[in-house]
Formats: sequence, structure tokens, C-alpha cells
Amino acid sequence: MAEKLKFGFYWAASCGGCEIAVLDTNEKLLDIVERADILLWPVAMDTKKADVEAMPDGHMDVVFFNGSVRNSEQEEWAHLLRKKTKTLVAFGSCAHHGCIPGLANLHSRREVFDTAYHEEPSLDDSAGTEPKTSCKVEEGELTLPKFYDGVYPLDQVTDVDYYIPGCPPPVPVIIAAVQAIFDGKLPEKGTVLAPTKALCDECPRNKHVAKKMPGIKRTWEVNADQEKCFLEQGIICMGPATRAGCESRCINGNQPCTGCMGPTPEVRDQGAKIISALGSILKVDEEKELTEEETRQLLSKVKDPVGTFYMYGLASATINRRRKK
Ligand code: SF4
Ligand code: SF4
Repeated sequence: MAEKLKFGFYWAASCGGCEIAVLDTNEKLLDIVERADILLWPVAMDTKKADVEAMPDGHMDVVFFNGSVRNSEQEEWAHLLRKKTKTLVAFGSCAHHGCIPGLANLHSRREVFDTAYHEEPSLDDSAGTEPKTSCKVEEGELTLPKFYDGVYPLDQVTDVDYYIPGCPPPVPVIIAAVQAIFDGKLPEKGTVLAPTKALCDECPRNKHVAKKMPGIKRTWEVNADQEKCFLEQGIICMGPATRAGCESRCINGNQPCTGCMGPTPEVRDQGAKIISALGSILKVDEEKELTEEETRQLLSKVKDPVGTFYMYGLASATINRRRKK
């Protein structure tokens, strides 16, 4: 029997959903552990940092790293795991593009701390307590990681070999990627291990894909027709700017795509792509172009433009911070 591979799983600024996605492989997980030993998996196993530090460089074959990098401890782990594995995979949208934690890049570290530790109405802030990197107590010094001013996708911190997209990654995409590893059929470095087409290509509603969008409505304003393209019903759907591979899970639940699989390979900026796609189909009147005023009125209906167009990709977008006055 061929020698077993050595896998590691790690989580940084993560909600834990990517770990659940691994468990969602169900009995396939047994096939995986038959062919690979798992040496590191903090959610399931008590492996200490010293154990990883003691491994020879390149000891693990593949590490799946989920979560973005938000503090100094996560950055240390990113560098450590880069050293200890031959192949580093950014697993899930947080590691790939920053995802929802990346929306914190709209605010500075100071603003995040003020909101979380001082302004929250349910908190008693009379002592003005907030996390510090070092704190002296009777027993000695307690330390905490440094909380950074921004959220970083994994490849902004260290060299990444492959990406598995999704929030969390869909099980078939995970299984196909692991199979490619076992078969020694990984594509060239830097590849996103998922289909290359846009979601609209696999969407069951694509026969009616919208040629025109009659204004902008929010999901709660419309009793959405389950057969028609969301755009045709005035509901923003990220499908044209988003990679396929999720088996249209949200669409099948009669919810528009919010873009978690990230952009297709030829698209640099997912938000810019959907804005341009919407710009070409938004119409109030079939016969004439929108005036500037009509455009402004339509745009005012997008109540949260960053959260709508960059819910998953702000940290890796072309414009990835808010400019302060
Ligand atoms: S990609 Fe989604 S599921 Fe995975 S850690 Fe980030 S927020 Fe959670
Ligand atoms: S825009 Fe959305 S609903 Fe319409 S075809 Fe594409 S993925 Fe489907």
C-alpha cells in the first residue's frame, strides 16, 4: 500500500463553518483518513504549536488553512504552516478573499475596539477595559496576540499554492480537490480548485436569464417567482460575477446568489464586474437610456453597496479600504 499522505487543517479568523464543511463530507472522511493521516486539526485534536514547530520543514503534504488573518498569532501560524507543509491551500472564502471578516476593513482597529468594548449599549464600560498585548498580574505577565488594523486573505501574508472557494466550500468541490491531491493531478500552482464557469451557466433559471432589470428591489419586497431569473425580477443576484460549483444551493432555496464562490478566473474584481453587468441591464424604460437622476435614484435603492457587491471580496478588492475624511 502506498505511504499515507500527511494532512493538516488550521483555522484563523474563521466562524468554524469551514470545519463543518469538512465534516459534511460524511463517510468520505473515512476514505480520506484511509489515505492521509491528519497531524493537525485544532477543532478536533489537541496538537500544540510546539508539536508543529518540532516537525521537519515540509513534513506535512497538504495544509488546508481556513479563515483570514486578523492578528499576530494567526500570521505566525500562517508562516509556520507555510514552512511545515509542501502544499498550502487557502480553504474557504475567508482565506481566499477575506470574506465577511474582511468587511471590518471599512473600519480601523480603533473603531472596531470602540464599538466592541466601549460603545456597545449592553456593556458596562466604566472600567474602560479593552484587550492589551501585555498585562501584568500577580502571577506574572499575560500576553494576547496583536489585533491588526486590517483583515488579510492568506495570500497577502504568505505564499499560497491553491485555493478552494466558497463560504463554506461545497462538499463536491472539497471532494474533487482531495481526489486530485490523491491522484497527483493538481493543476498549476495558483489555481482555484473549482469550476471555471459563472454560476449563471449552471443555474436552473438561466433559460430566462435577464436581458433587462426593471429597477432594484430588496428580497423582502418581492414574492420571488421560483422559475424566473432574480435579475429579471429586480433582485440583485451575483450569479453573473460568481464562480459556479455550489450547485445553485441558494437559488434552489429561492434566494439570490450573494457571491461566496468568488469571481470567475477572468475577473479581477467581483464587485466591479457585477456593477458593470447591472449597469448594462438596468432599465426603467425600454426605449431610453437612464438619466443621471434616474441612475442616482436607482442606486439609492442599494442600501448596503459594499455588503451587497463585496460581501466576500472586500479585503482582496482593487479598492479594499474605506477612505477616511
Ligand atoms: S469562509 Fe464562510 S464558513 Fe468558512 S470560516 Fe469564513 S465565514 Fe465561516
Ligand atoms: S442572475 Fe442569478 S438567478 Fe439569474 S441566471 Fe444567473 S444565477 Fe440564476
